[in-house]
Amino acid sequence: MRRGSLVPVLLMAAACAGETGTTVGQDGPLAQRLEARLVAKEAELISFRRDLHRHPELSGQEQRTAAAVAARLRDLGFAVRTGVGGHGVVGLLRGDRPGPVVAFRADMDAVSSIAPDPVSFASLTPGVRHICGHDVHTTVGIALAEAFSAVRDSLPGTVLLIFQPAEERATGARAMLASGVFGTDRPAAIFALHTAPLEVGQLGTTAGPLMASRDVVRIVAMGTGDRSAALAAARQVIEGVATVDVSRQFDGATGDFVLVQFGGGDPSTVVATLSLATEAARTRARETIAREVAALTIPSVALAVEYQARFIDGVTNDSGLVIAASAAIAAVPGAGTVVTIRSITPAFSEDFGAFQAVVPGAMYFLGVSNAARGTVGYPHAPAYVADEGSILVGARAMAAVILDRLRAGG
Ligand SMILES: [Zn+2]
Repeated sequence: MRRGSLVPVLLMAAACAGETGTTVGQDGPLAQRLEARLVAKEAELISFRRDLHRHPELSGQEQRTAAAVAARLRDLGFAVRTGVGGHGVVGLLRGDRPGPVVAFRADMDAVSSIAPDPVSFASLTPGVRHICGHDVHTTVGIALAEAFSAVRDSLPGTVLLIFQPAEERATGARAMLASGVFGTDRPAAIFALHTAPLEVGQLGTTAGPLMASRDVVRIVAMGTGDRSAALAAARQVIEGVATVDVSRQFDGATGDFVLVQFGGGDPSTVVATLSLATEAARTRARETIAREVAALTIPSVALAVEYQARFIDGVTNDSGLVIAASAAIAAVPGAGTVVTIRSITPAFSEDFGAFQAVVPGAMYFLGVSNAARGTVGYPHAPAYVADEGSILVGARAMAAVILDRLRAGG
């Protein structure tokens, strides 16, 4: 997740479920065997997460994290590819029974932060911390590897685990796709989690847009006339498409909103980032800017409008997958209570949408706050703390979702 934080609006909703599953023998039904493995491995998983937390790595520098992930996947019998789109790691487990390929994506990178780390397993790397929870996402990915490797003999299909670098720079997903992340095993569906300031035991999602995408628009002034005046007019045009004020970027917004943030560029240009809730918002903003800039008449000045559409892809969930996945989660004790997210925080974005543009997918927010302990998992906030109970909740939820898709045939 890039920049900002989730809104308190998200915090409404039901109390947490968080009950503990029952351990059963290895001869039980598939779902119960997955649960047994997760419960048995929880302490190891927490240790794995704490190791990642102590050694956070910025975007593009995830060597140590990737090595730890690859080593564990190999130990568990996964076919592993490394160096996929940078330090990306892909693990593939083919079940002994026929079925589709279903993918889970976890991002691995950390964030610059000089604020003190309030946990006992604090970051050992000055200025770098896991305050976006990607250490939790990566650990859930390893938890899924633990669980599915234990049931390979009766697994109806293939589990593809994608560990992505450079999400905070919003380049990792595309780099992995450009490097053939799926290989010959294109998934029928892809899922992801992102930590959020919901209470631990809760997950949140919606059928449709969950996080805004971003375009970059650059307007260049050329000619011998008053270019400053032309650029000032162009800036006003861009400002005019905004429906959310920058001061409200951390609030929940609804509808096809547009947030405009100016920045960068040289004196001959105006550069702005547009955060867009929907495709309708993208189309409206682009058409308005093109029409109104074309209508500007400054003597001896020409204005050229350049677009970088989907600079960040955002997250738009497949409605059918969300309905099926939320039902699958609801059927598993301890997999969390799913709440519906009814607004989008303009300041947030994510590059998971790059995968969703290729394969139907759904992202769930994973609650990591703990009111009783007074900790809040507000991504990128200096005091960010993720409750470790979320690891098993997220793993149970995603194991249920993946198993449901495998059984459904994709
Ligand atoms: Zn993030």
